[in-house]
Amino acid sequence: MSQKTTITVAYGDGIGPEIMEATLQILDAAGAQLEKEVIEIGEKLYLKGVKTGIEPSAWESLRRTKVFLKAPITTPQGGGYTSLNVTTRKMLGLYANVRPCQSYHPFVVTKHPKMDLVIIRENEEDLYAGIEHQQTEQVVQCLKIISRPGCEKIIRYAFEYARAYGRKKVTCLTKDNIMKLTDGLFHKVFDQIGQEYPDLEKEHWIIDIGSALLADEPERFGVIVTLNLYGDIISDIAAQIAGSVGMGGSANIGDQCAMFEAIHGSAPSIAGQGIANPSGLLHGAIMMLVHIGQPEVAAKIHNAWLSTIEAGIHTGDVFKPDVSKQKVGTKEFAEAVIKRLGRKPHLFKTISYQSAPKPIHTHQEAQQAKRKKDLVGVDVFLDWDKGSADDLGKALEKVTSEGLKLTMISNRGVKVYPDGLPETFCTDHWRCRYVSQNGGVVSHEQILALLAKIQSAGYDFIKIENLCTFDGKPGYSVGQGE
Ligand code: NAD
Repeated sequence: MSQKTTITVAYGDGIGPEIMEATLQILDAAGAQLEKEVIEIGEKLYLKGVKTGIEPSAWESLRRTKVFLKAPITTPQGGGYTSLNVTTRKMLGLYANVRPCQSYHPFVVTKHPKMDLVIIRENEEDLYAGIEHQQTEQVVQCLKIISRPGCEKIIRYAFEYARAYGRKKVTCLTKDNIMKLTDGLFHKVFDQIGQEYPDLEKEHWIIDIGSALLADEPERFGVIVTLNLYGDIISDIAAQIAGSVGMGGSANIGDQCAMFEAIHGSAPSIAGQGIANPSGLLHGAIMMLVHIGQPEVAAKIHNAWLSTIEAGIHTGDVFKPDVSKQKVGTKEFAEAVIKRLGRKPHLFKTISYQSAPKPIHTHQEAQQAKRKKDLVGVDVFLDWDKGSADDLGKALEKVTSEGLKLTMISNRGVKVYPDGLPETFCTDHWRCRYVSQNGGVVSHEQILALLAKIQSAGYDFIKIENLCTFDGKPGYSVGQGE
């Protein structure tokens, strides 16, 4: 008997306890060598007033075992609660969210019988940084944070994953036609790192048309790498069009820890009825077994699961009278899988994990030569509702500080002064761009002096963003219409 691996287990909320019980039963019956530390997280803690949904003792377990099998949890709406899923991924540095999605035609009804793809979603950055502010009465803001090391880690992971699993093509999805700096960086790093993988086909699509192609012709994709929010959305779409969101598993991989779960949520509307599909969590658990070095057990379970699906034994979410043979609940489904342990599927390809996966290296890129950073101006954001863009522009022309001049005012990104259009709708949130009068650099003292002038002229500034160039190239976007 091989040595047991200690893992941390959370039963979660809603359908969580039912599908976790079914999954662990299958793992035990298959001979998985596991020691389980059970932690309590989620709704019960939230309702006790623990705003994070997790207590220090649970972190201790996670940091000790470094492997987490987690059932879905319910995040209460509003009330200042933070998403435990997002927190766990970020606190443990689980930067890669791996979501395989394939169809099980002809046993599970799908319009896409040849679909077999893996979505690799960046897990730590993007709008999920959760940095939001109410800035004026009318305007709220959410910061989209993208870092070069973050892009490098996830993109290299995607290429290495494709190689390790014999995939031929890696597709990058971004919206860099609009977000030229943030999504633009992701795309640029994809092109740079992609050069090191001449054996793999590479392509980039803008996320909107990319998602449309995914929904229409998913078989054209192999590995998809994308930013956090897009990855979240397209992986639910992919799981659904493959057959059911109830079937998709997900691995969250970091350099030191890993978390395995279903892609779906806690499905409160069917909780406690014993009808949920445990397959999503089971697929997460199969990935976990491969990760912790028990690939034979993983393959045994996967093949038994495929045999069960082939036998037409289906839970309600995938049951279709024309193709299914028997509609079962969570428990019965688990029993059917257990009964088939040791069997190989007849029609589906037999799964073997013995030789895979090869180790995936995600070295941090060598620091590229530091670029010369120059401060050349400042965007001052104002909360102001006393008139039109022209009124504000004309007034601010007089509120200047030595070396800085007002060049533009925008509202929600659109230039409204000078020469704005009367048709443009304006809120109470204004970005006033001041740049160096002589086209050179400015100092922090000049910016502070400008802010003091703006404040004493009676304006409420919300925040500033410094305007910098890097090796002479602007590190900021221009106003739309500027
Ligand atoms: P959901 O995924 O829970 O449910 C969406 C739909 O799919 C529902 O109709 C549900 O009945 C069905 N479904 C989901 N899993 C199923 C399964 N295993 N078997 C059969 N049917 C299944 O999404 P939601 O309703 O938007 O979210 C419910 C709660 O889950 C929310 O509180 C949300 O915050 C949370 N959530 C948690 C996670 C996680 O823990 N990783 C992920 C997503 C959502």
